[in-house]
Amino acid sequence: QQIRILVSACLLGFKVRYNGREKAAIQDTLQRWQQENRLVIHCPELAAGLPVPRPPAEIVAGDGADVMRDRARILEDNGQDVTAHYQLAAWLALSAAQQAGCRAALLTDGSPTCGSQHIYNGTFSGMQKPGMGVAAALLEQHGIRVFSEQQLPALIAWVKEREKQ
Ligand code: SF4
Repeated sequence: QQIRILVSACLLGFKVRYNGREKAAIQDTLQRWQQENRLVIHCPELAAGLPVPRPPAEIVAGDGADVMRDRARILEDNGQDVTAHYQLAAWLALSAAQQAGCRAALLTDGSPTCGSQHIYNGTFSGMQKPGMGVAAALLEQHGIRVFSEQQLPALIAWVKEREKQ
């Protein structure tokens, strides 16, 4: 059976990032998977009702798993606490993945929602630190394997391996 994959909408060129710019990362395999209807394209922050454009937000004093346990907050650069919106975004991403039977996710790194290798460090200074955003952390906790866009080759290998079994 073909493995389905939840994909950050902004990775496929949809203009949904906070600053309205796209992050074009379409590669041949992604295009083929899209034609095969394996990709579930989703933006958790849009699904949670956040507007475009929106102020940049960072996880303060923790990571996405901490936010989901109410042990860290997410603030916009204007100081507004948007933790609840981002927690909702994470639950909606999990729900979208589970409803579509996704076993993996390909998410945009660096985001407080979709980041899986790095997130910004909460000081709004452009500095990153290792860590996961809220949706990536929740998906992993529920057995959905998360890859960043830099890990596309690893995702392709992971999918091939499982489809051989
Ligand atoms: Fe992209 Fe995820 Fe941010 Fe949506 S929430 S714009 S999909 S990184």
